[in-house]
Amino acid sequence: MPSQLTRLDDATVAKIAAGEVISRPARVVSELVDNALDAGASRIDIAVAGDGTDRIRVEDDGHGLSRDDAELAVQRHTTSKLPADAGASLTAVSTLGFRGEALAAICDCATVELVTNDGDAAGTTLRVENGEPTVADAARGQGTTVTVTDLFADRPARRESLAGPAAEFSRISDLVADYAFAQPDVSFSLSHDGTKTFSAAGGGLRDALLGVYDADVARNATVVEHATDIDIEGGTGSLDLRGILAYPSVTRATREHVRISVAGRPVSDSGLRQAVIDGYGSLLPGDQYPIAAVDIEPPAGVVDPNVHPAKQRVGLRYRDAIEAAVETAVSEALSTADARRADAAAT
Ligand code: ADP
Ligand code: MG
Repeated sequence: MPSQLTRLDDATVAKIAAGEVISRPARVVSELVDNALDAGASRIDIAVAGDGTDRIRVEDDGHGLSRDDAELAVQRHTTSKLPADAGASLTAVSTLGFRGEALAAICDCATVELVTNDGDAAGTTLRVENGEPTVADAARGQGTTVTVTDLFADRPARRESLAGPAAEFSRISDLVADYAFAQPDVSFSLSHDGTKTFSAAGGGLRDALLGVYDADVARNATVVEHATDIDIEGGTGSLDLRGILAYPSVTRATREHVRISVAGRPVSDSGLRQAVIDGYGSLLPGDQYPIAAVDIEPPAGVVDPNVHPAKQRVGLRYRDAIEAAVETAVSEALSTADARRADAAAT
């Protein structure tokens, strides 16, 4: 038999790439929330219908987009966050997005409506359906609302691989909780089928703890802020750590309640998570894990955000030193808090 190779056309290539980036509804939410945060939003409201393929809406009060920029934004490899020739200097990226392909990828597998206003008199509604954009005026204050409907409508296999409304929504809910801790000064709300399931007021880490857990957990926690010098090439650099640690009296049965972010980006990093758990050490009852959220800001050049397409995992140089510093900071913060509480009890 002759070999049967065909070259995929651009539309197919686009579809494959989009399918890879946008694997499930929670990925849509994370891309839209990243964009809202990059736009400087102080408030982000998220609404989900069904398993998320029906509708996802993310509303922000960020800087918004002009009409011309809105039309560019949904195209592939268009971004306001990198110079066109950024090349290898990606370690300098300070925004959550930078590939310029999320909106395009979502448009490839859903209907997208972007309503935006950059403070100009007339706002813009840009609707992309089957790859075709249409533009109209919109009445909206400054900010952006992105509504994604009919996700994976033409991808039955992808739709069938989803785990059902409860499980998909629970992924979204975990994700939004991660953001609430990673960006504690931003207010977040999440609703499912019209019912508000969660909100964090944006007044800091304790608000996040209160929103995601309850008043009891929020009371029984200590805030940690710590700077450690670590040895890096050509000298030392400062590792800044900020977090909230529930006392070991309130624990959970799984380690997912230990949340890690790097410079405000939620990451799934088992090494850093373990470092936090190790910081609690023997304070934890057997088989129990803490409730904690830790954000680390390593010295410049140490983080490579470009490791994983979904960006959940980051590359860290000097990982051993960073993990050791995290463990020490957590352990010291807990013993200080303990001493403080013992003092308070004694007086
Ligand atoms: P990236 O975030 O990697 O730049 P996206 O496809 O996610 O790529 O977004 C493309 C561009 O659209 C962004 O660079 C930004 O300029 C603009 N944009 C997207 N969402 C928003 C938003 N919520 N508010 C303001 N601008 C936005
Ligand atoms: Mg983006």
